[in-house]
Parts: sequence; C-alpha cells; structure tokens
Amino acid sequence: MNFFVKIILLVALLYATLGNGATVKRKDASWRKGYDYIIVGGGTAGVALSTRLSQGLPDSKILLIEAGPAAFDELGINVPGKKGSTLGTQYDWNFTTIPQPALKNRVLAQNRGKVLGGSSALNLLTYDRASASEYDGWGEVGNPGWDFDTFEDMMDRAENFTSADTEWYDDDNDGINTDGPVRGTINRFIPAHQNGWVPTLNSLGIETNKEYMSGNPLGVMYSSSSIDPTHYNRSYSANAYLPLAGPRLTVMTDTTVLKVNLKQDHHGYYATGVTLANGTVINATQEVILSAGSFQSPGLLELSGIGNKTVLAAAGIEQLIELPGVGENLQDHIRIQTSYQVKENYTSFDILRYNTTYATEQLQLWFEGKYSIYDYTGSAYSFMTWKQAIGNDSTLRALAQAAVGSSKHPADTKKLEWLSDPTIPQLEVIMSDGYTGVKGYPAIGTALYGKGFFSLLAAVMHPLSRGTVHINSSDPLGKPIIDPNYLSNGYDLQAAIAAIKKCRQIATTPPLSDVWDSEYEPGLENVNTDAEWKDFVLNTTLTIYHPVGTCAMLPRMDGGVVDPKLKVYGTRNLRVVDASIIPVLISAHMQTAVYGIAEMAADIIIGNLNS
Ligand SMILES: Cc1cc2nc3c(=O)[nH]c(=O)nc-3n(C[C@H](O)[C@H](O)[C@H](O)COP(=O)(O)OP(=O)(O)OC[C@H]3O[C@@H](n4cnc5c(N)ncnc54)[C@H](O)[C@@H]3O)c2cc1C
Repeated sequence: MNFFVKIILLVALLYATLGNGATVKRKDASWRKGYDYIIVGGGTAGVALSTRLSQGLPDSKILLIEAGPAAFDELGINVPGKKGSTLGTQYDWNFTTIPQPALKNRVLAQNRGKVLGGSSALNLLTYDRASASEYDGWGEVGNPGWDFDTFEDMMDRAENFTSADTEWYDDDNDGINTDGPVRGTINRFIPAHQNGWVPTLNSLGIETNKEYMSGNPLGVMYSSSSIDPTHYNRSYSANAYLPLAGPRLTVMTDTTVLKVNLKQDHHGYYATGVTLANGTVINATQEVILSAGSFQSPGLLELSGIGNKTVLAAAGIEQLIELPGVGENLQDHIRIQTSYQVKENYTSFDILRYNTTYATEQLQLWFEGKYSIYDYTGSAYSFMTWKQAIGNDSTLRALAQAAVGSSKHPADTKKLEWLSDPTIPQLEVIMSDGYTGVKGYPAIGTALYGKGFFSLLAAVMHPLSRGTVHINSSDPLGKPIIDPNYLSNGYDLQAAIAAIKKCRQIATTPPLSDVWDSEYEPGLENVNTDAEWKDFVLNTTLTIYHPVGTCAMLPRMDGGVVDPKLKVYGTRNLRVVDASIIPVLISAHMQTAVYGIAEMAADIIIGNLNS
C-alpha cells in the first residue's frame, strides 16, 4: 500500500472512532448554551482529564479548548524516529528563557506543544517513572492522599505497557498496567553500537534493572517509549484517550482562552466560565479547569486576577485573589551532553540527515509496518545516586546544604533530604543515537559531514535552582517571561560538572569505548581540567524540557497555588490539572506523572460529584 493511502486510512479510522465519542471542531456554535465543565488546554493532562470526565459524568456537557490544531496525520508527530522534527514548527509555542546570568547570559529554548495532545505530541517519547519515595514526598510536603501507592494506581490507569515478559522487562506485573490507553513499549530498534551500553554500566557498578516502572528506577536499562506497537506510531494523549471519550465531550481546537471569568458571593470567588482571545464568553455551570501547562496555567491565573499583587499591578490587572505562589517555584531538569563519532562499521541515526535514498526507503518500511530505523527513539538509560556515580558525594551534599541555607521551602528541604536517600536517583545518563549536542552536526563540505555519531546525555535530577514564569507586564497577552534561574547555585554547577564527567567516563569504558573513533564534542584534547569542564557546562547546558511547579500543590503559607484536590486557593470551582501542580521535581521524565495527575483529578472530580 502506498504511504499516503495508508496514512489517510489511519486518519480516517481515528476520526471515525472519535465520531462515536468526542466531537472535534475548529469552530463550535453551541458555546452559546454553555457547558458544565470547561477544560482549558487540550494537552497531555487536558485531553486525558476531559476524556475521563466525559466517561465518568455522562450527563455533563464538557468542553475542551485547545489553542493549537488537531494534527492526527502529522508524520513529525506520529513517526517515532521523527521525534524532535516538530520543535520550532507551528506545533510549538517556541518560548525562550530570558538571558540566564549563570549560563553566560545564554537564552535557552523552552519548547511546548501547541497542538491537540500538547507536549505529549512533541516530546521525545521517554516513558518511565521516578522512585516511590519521591511520589510519597509530594504527600509529605502537605498533600494528604498523595502517595506512591495511590499515585501508581493513577499512572497505571493511563497505561498499556506492552513489553512485559520480554528480554528487557520482567513479567510479574509489578508497577505496570496493560489495559490503559497510552502505550509504553521498549523499542524494537536498538542500534548495534548500543549493545555495549548495559555491560559498560554494569562494569561501572550500575546493576541491570528490568522492573524500572515499579518505584525503583535505579540501574541501567532499555527503557520504554510511548509507542503503540500496532503501527509503531507515537502514542500520545490525543490518539490514546480521545477515541474513548463519551459523546458529550466537545473539543474546540485552534481556540485560545484569554482568561477565566470570576465572580464573588458571600462564600468567596467562583469561576463562571472563560473569555476567549476573540472576546467570546463561554459559561461553565460546574467548574473551570486549567490544563495549559507549566508555562501558561500561571499566566491564565494572572490574567484572571489571581497572583502576586506586584506582578498584576505591573500588567495593569486588577487583583482579585492574592496568591503570591502563582508562577513561582519553577523547577526543571538540565541536560548536558558529549558525543562520539562511531566506527565506520556502525550505522548511526545520523544517516537520515545525509542519505535521502536510505531515509525514503526506511520511511516506506515504517509505513508498511516493517522494522525500520524510524522506529528508533532512544531506549538506553541509566539512573544512579551520586555515591554510585562518583563514589564520595560529601562535597556535593555540602554544596547542596549551603545552597538551601535557611530556606524552609518544601522543594528545597525535600531535595536536600532526598540527597541522602539511597533509593532516589540524582543523575540520569542516556545513550542517544545520532548527534544531539550544541556544536551542531558537521556542515556539508567538511570532513565529518556524512559521519555517524552517538551522544551521551546527562540530566541532573534534583537541581536546587528555582525560577519563575510570569506574564509580560508590557505585553500581558504575549509570550511569558520565563526565568528558570539555571545553575544559580554551587550545587547545581558542580552537579552538572560531575554529570558530564560521568558521560566521558562511561564512553571511555569498554565495551562502549570500542565502538567509537573520536570524541566529537567537546573533544578529548579540548576539555580535561575542572576549569575546562566548567566552561563546557556553562556553554552547553540545555533543558531536558521538564518544567514543573509553577502552580504548586502546596499549603498556601508555603507558596502553594492549589490544594490537594487541585483547587486554586480562594476559589471553590477553579482547578489546575497539569505539570505545573507538581511541588517537587522527580527523577523521571514527566509524562507518566502528568497522565497520573489527570487520572487523579478525574477521580477527585467524579468522586466529589458522586459523594
Ligand atoms: C520537547 C519536549 C520533549 C519532552 N520529552 C519528554 C519525554 O521524552 N518523556 C516525558 O515523559 N516527558 C517529556 N517531556 C515533558 C512532557 O511531555 C510534559 O511535561 C508534559 O507533556 C506536560 O503536560 P501538560 O499537560 O502539563 O502540558 P502540555 O501537554 O504542554 O499541554 C498544555 C496545552 O495547553 C494548550 N494551551 C496553552 N495555553 C492555552 C490557552 N490560553 N488556550 C487554549 N489552550 C492553551 C497548549 O497548546 C497545550 O496543548 C518533553 C517535553 C517537551 C516539550
């Protein structure tokens, strides 16, 4: 079957399925009658939550509003090996940070999905979980009802793990589920030069973990990706959840919400609906729920009059509810990488950059459902404590203590506590095929153009830098002002240096050391001393795209924005349900947690109504 016929059939199938449930519309005239529940942001959490509400509250009219389009036929989203190709496109909000003083004033990209499915449509598909103690920690900072056992069940509701009882995953069903909507699959395409990954980490004292979804992620593994093995396509909130939705869910795409409308009575403030960017008002009789993500849910609160008085005053917005935590507590994982030119007998993922004939053939194989390089997403992962990574961790712990100082903020105190917990990873190192660094793939006409590379990506799991995201006072409806404050303390800097040195150590340890000819970035001869590593870190640190915490679920006196039922303080029917409510950053990629948050919220809302 030819490519295009196949993809059109796939899309037709999906729309037909959606036709039995949710209605996806670009424009919807029925808004005049209003809805019971309005969810703002059809991203990872918003789609999952609205689907579950439509199933659990079949008599309720539910509206999901998404600023971006539906893009079920977009190859850049669907084909796993095209991951990253949608960054910077119309499906990306294309945010950036303000200049980061501790990173030589560099401005870093802050990509976010602007499409039905949100960032789950754009992400790099890693599908994993953090340690049990970290989810317990979310409860311990003042959120009764949030603990690993409960939350694991919520993450499981989202999940259909398709790789149990395989070479790289054991089968006792510990911590995984096999009948949820989102597929998690260990990639079938593992490049030959990645075969040395596990033995290399083993020889450095990191044990193989074949049950990394169970609350213990420490070790080395071939980790899963959000891939549906049926067609080997991306499994994301839009194509996984929406086909399950009830008939009373309406999805409005290409529609931007400006603010939440609030009224006050003798019980306090309540949401009456939303105003769209074009001025249209849509009413909600029950609740408004913000699922616009870590960079935009805080801004929607601020535009609605909820937040820090100074921020609102600067933007000329009347303050209705004083909530100084809105847009504060921004936490993110940082990423630094080294890269290596593979020996000529290995085929690296980079071949897709320079060999269009091969790329076309491989894409054809993907369309035909056959084994293809386009199946590839990564898969080679490791998580370790600092003790496992560098032996003596006393300097890092002292630096962390100094950075936290007298702060009593729950995110700071938890991260300090977690540094001494031997079950909690502090460092992740990923072997990613193909070049993914900062220097850039060799230019056409240079000696290394046409060569293949792999990269080792290190991510610090609990950086102590916390930043902010607020509306722009001179353009409140424009892009937010994002200041993650990266590497703004001694711990984060030294942790980043330790992390990148670990990458070099791993690469130069056999058998991995046997598969490459030269270190392309930074180069064995270029960077060796601590001062050189520090400079490399300052020049090349990036985000690994995990911003959280900006509408934190914390007690109000600790800077919280939502309570444990995800209700915004000072309101009775306005909630936030997305990555922004995460109070403390965890040692995992974020999507499984975000799906879990959506499932938990659905349980709370449906339970509330039924009780
Ligand atoms: C490039 C990238 C790579 C990543 N890689 C991974 C990975 O490999 N594994 C992993 O687990 N996690 C990864 N993540 C993180 C993970 O995908 C996100 O944490 C998660 O998807 C966030 O979900 P969310 O629901 O909070 O926000 P989103 O999924 O971003 O959803 C927010 C939605 O709200 C919409 N919206 C915003 N404002 C408005 C408005 N005013 N009106 C209407 N709609 C609005 C947006 O368009 C968007 O669709 C990555 C993220 C990115 C961006």
